[in-house]
Amino acid sequence: MRFRRRALWSAVLAILILTVAARQPVEGVAQEASGILLRDVLIVDGTGTLPYPGELLIVGDEIAAVGPAGSLDVTGDVHIENLSGLMLAPGFIDIHNHSDNGILNQPSAEALISQGETTIIVGPDGGSAWPIADYLNRIESTRPAVNVGTLVGHGTVRRAVMGDDYRRTATPAEVQAMATRVDRGMREGAFGLSTGLEYDPGFYSDTEELIELSKVAAAHGGFYMSHMRDEEEGVMDAIAEAIQIGREANLPIQISHIKMGNASVWGGAAKALEMIRQARATGVDVFADWYPYQAWASSLNIVVRSRRFTDPEEVAAGLEAMGGADRLQITNYPPDRSVEGKRLLEIAQSKDLTPVEMYIQMMRAGGASVIGHTMDKGDVDTFAASPLVMVASDGGIGSAHPRGAGTFSRMLGHYVREEGILPVERAVYKMTSLPARRLGLTDRGRIVAGAKADLVAFDMATVSDSSTFEESSLLSVGIERVWVNGQLVWSEGAATGTRPGRPLRPR
Ligand SMILES: [Zn+2]
Repeated sequence: MRFRRRALWSAVLAILILTVAARQPVEGVAQEASGILLRDVLIVDGTGTLPYPGELLIVGDEIAAVGPAGSLDVTGDVHIENLSGLMLAPGFIDIHNHSDNGILNQPSAEALISQGETTIIVGPDGGSAWPIADYLNRIESTRPAVNVGTLVGHGTVRRAVMGDDYRRTATPAEVQAMATRVDRGMREGAFGLSTGLEYDPGFYSDTEELIELSKVAAAHGGFYMSHMRDEEEGVMDAIAEAIQIGREANLPIQISHIKMGNASVWGGAAKALEMIRQARATGVDVFADWYPYQAWASSLNIVVRSRRFTDPEEVAAGLEAMGGADRLQITNYPPDRSVEGKRLLEIAQSKDLTPVEMYIQMMRAGGASVIGHTMDKGDVDTFAASPLVMVASDGGIGSAHPRGAGTFSRMLGHYVREEGILPVERAVYKMTSLPARRLGLTDRGRIVAGAKADLVAFDMATVSDSSTFEESSLLSVGIERVWVNGQLVWSEGAATGTRPGRPLRPR
């Protein structure tokens, strides 16, 4: 009796499975589903293959079917949307985003969705929320417009262990205590370990400490993402250190916002890429990310590598290496808001000081945030074209740098359409499946049946960033529709108010 019942159940299950199988996306096969059919659109599927005229069916939060134009025969309760003249890509994945708090305070995230971002990874540069589980729970209850994952910050755990006594090498016991925290962060859902080695307290860590902690991330299948020690004179050594960590801790490496940061290393982009290529050839899974601007944003202290911020000779050398005080634009200086937006040279002249004196005065008053217009177009363009370099904003909601609101639209408008540096399918690859691969996300970053329906429809003729170094929060144009988990979040220049984003954890 029992056996027969089981047999009966097996038969029922088999029929169910066959029914489901028959509804799988097969070209030309009739579909009965309630969903959204996107038609008459050029599909750029994220893998780097050429765009093709196609159509796509969203059911629930997934791409139920996709195929060439006219191939899907869908019946039933389906809302049809014609997207003629537009391209349809996977939603853009920003693997280096600083909206850790911004996304909680402003979950509608217009600055992100208006440029086509559907997933952000926060906790970069060594600084993350803590504990990771609490943060992801807050994302869950806040329900932002985009999906959010996080890294565990090396600086965060180092500060927790060493307190204010961090300006030294950590003891083995301290490294062990940090490792315990990295382990907890990874178990609670972090995608990897991030470092910020130009900042406190990461600056004082040695390579051994980073290797030990990376081994913990590796044990959980995570990766190591680094704002390296040096992006200027010592950038090649810094890349070599990142690769060494990958080799010795046996985990994937992500070099954050790769750049040739000042005049002393201009022209070095090809060499940096060659180092990455060679490392990959010898088994270290290293990629980099990059934002599409010739200027960086950081704190004023990175100008003086020795950290002797009040030594006039050191300051003079630092300013010279940056290409002069006219290249440094102060963006945040609480003691005197009137200088914000101006260049250091101009500020000094207005106060009858030399740039060196002005710099020292500002550092004594607590320092400032700065945008450094110190990169060479040739290097930036070389990284733009490379398949080893994904696109990431290093910005977020409320950024003083235009990259926060304009990175992904600028990649399409400026680098693809205006400059012709790479074709659209390769740009989309660098914004979708490449970051998804680094994160181990198998259900996002590509347009394929069964993937989550994170999608962006854009007009290649008009897509453009609007944000500038003067007005950094202006929203992009030409991003016509954005769906997150199957729901429309951005349409014709405005947020729909729907917020279907989820916390993401590694699989
Ligand atoms: Zn950084």
